[in-house]
Amino acid sequence: LTVHAVPLEPPLSDGGRLLLLLSDRTRDRAVERMRADFVANASHELRTPLASVIGFIDTLRGPAKDDPEAQARFLGIMADQADRMRRLIDDLLGLSRIEITEHQPPTGRVDLAALAAAEAEAMGPILAQRGATVALALAPGTVAAPADAGQIGQVLRNLLENAARYGREGGTIRLSVAPAETGATRWPGRAGVVLSVADEGPGIARHHIPRLTERFYRVDRGRGRSIGGTGLGLAIVKHIVNRHRGVLLIESEEGVGSTFRVWLPAEN
Ligand code: ADP
Repeated sequence: LTVHAVPLEPPLSDGGRLLLLLSDRTRDRAVERMRADFVANASHELRTPLASVIGFIDTLRGPAKDDPEAQARFLGIMADQADRMRRLIDDLLGLSRIEITEHQPPTGRVDLAALAAAEAEAMGPILAQRGATVALALAPGTVAAPADAGQIGQVLRNLLENAARYGREGGTIRLSVAPAETGATRWPGRAGVVLSVADEGPGIARHHIPRLTERFYRVDRGRGRSIGGTGLGLAIVKHIVNRHRGVLLIESEEGVGSTFRVWLPAEN
């Protein structure tokens, strides 16, 4: 479909209407394709662990019937695969719930420094399992903003989890909350708060960065999955930040680390 083929004569107004209609259809088609891709990807992501579970059921009924050691091992794998399916379904449901609320700005006011401290503490054991420690830097005084505490908590959890997953083993994750520097060109020109999660991982090649928030986009497909990611974490982050009329900024330097910053407006 080429919008250029639309004749602008006769009457310009008709041409204008036709032009609008055609570009609407183009957008509809792009949205339809994205939906179809999403359903295909989600189905594929679910089918892989399901196929594994079905395969092991057959093995348990057949070849491993009288082998308790193999049974224990296979049940462990099946439990992991079932857990992977559960996490994927949770994330899919979470994403669609966020999309529904995306056009309603959050109503509550949240102390972001306190929220970050609570999330860091709650995530501590999970992060420690991966050998990571969190260094918290909270600006003095209360840094409050209009926000949905549950959703911003999820943003912090997803970013911290990624920092532990993809960061350097035994490395430090720096989590900070501070008022946005006024006059910094990268932020909108009004009062805001910046949440930042920085890791010491291998970093992300520049060309991947704009695509990281796409659903199921992974830099290393196999690794992302085996490490336990659903491929939806950053898509969820992006939608939550959009709902808050905020900005997500991803910076990474290969060999040094990655920093994920979320700017949120300090006032509605
Ligand atoms: P996943 O569940 O795969 O982690 P995400 O949407 O959270 O999905 O992240 C998408 C991809 O972005 C990951 O698979 C990984 O390749 C990359 N990524 C995310 N966070 C980091 C990070 N802190 N360091 C390096 N790569 C990252």
